[in-house]
Amino acid sequence: MITTLHDLQPAFHTWLDEWHAAQGFESDYRVLADTLGLTVKAATRSMYDAATQTIYIERNLHPLRERHEGLHEVTHHLFQTAQAGAFHRAAQQLGKALKSRQDAEEGIVQEASWRLLMPPHRVNEVCRVTTTDVEAMVQLARMCRASFEFAAWRVAGTLTRPVRGVVLDSRGWVLASFGNNVGTAKYTPGRGFFVDAMHPLQQITETNQVVEFKAAIPFKRGRVGWRVSMEAWKDSKRFQTLAVFDTRISKNHGMEPLLEVDT
Ligand SMILES: [Zn+2]
Repeated sequence: MITTLHDLQPAFHTWLDEWHAAQGFESDYRVLADTLGLTVKAATRSMYDAATQTIYIERNLHPLRERHEGLHEVTHHLFQTAQAGAFHRAAQQLGKALKSRQDAEEGIVQEASWRLLMPPHRVNEVCRVTTTDVEAMVQLARMCRASFEFAAWRVAGTLTRPVRGVVLDSRGWVLASFGNNVGTAKYTPGRGFFVDAMHPLQQITETNQVVEFKAAIPFKRGRVGWRVSMEAWKDSKRFQTLAVFDTRISKNHGMEPLLEVDT
């Protein structure tokens, strides 16, 4: 019996992971759409239309973005139709207390779609073969052809200690900020600002390797925090730097074993 949003999310994840396993963890949204009998059309904006069983995908998106938006819209369809619509009805019931029903579904679908892109066994795999969070995130992004931002959210969401960080472009602009809502990781740095040119994050010269240093977390609102241990990865192909903060307990992801490994 699903009575809160807090219960609905894991219940849908469980259902989704099983469904996805039955599809051989296919991650091409066009193949999944075809399996589900959905029509895929190009449009000015991505959306799922339940009435016509059609997925509209925005034209001219970057391939990684298109890949994710396609899976996102497939997930809307799954959420609305799974278990004869039971999850969807529960969200509508629970959503009455929220700003809108749409918000309840949107949040659940967003996180759930990351599982289609980066299934649990893939997350286990990268966490097993890496010793730092930042490396696990980079490996996951590469393995699943996902953005650094979504791979970071996915790894952080799997760990039970505080994990937070940022993704910067080559100029030091904060493209994304992530945190798993545990302890200090409730306070993410924010996005859409430049990290100071003198900050160690902006001084990294080594590429495609984990760099460790101590520095203050750059917050959008200019708060100067304590110096904390950081791990960063400057990627020469993606022209982005992924950084994880408060990493003093992140070796081996702070837990062993991480999750049951499904092989
Ligand atoms: Zn959506």
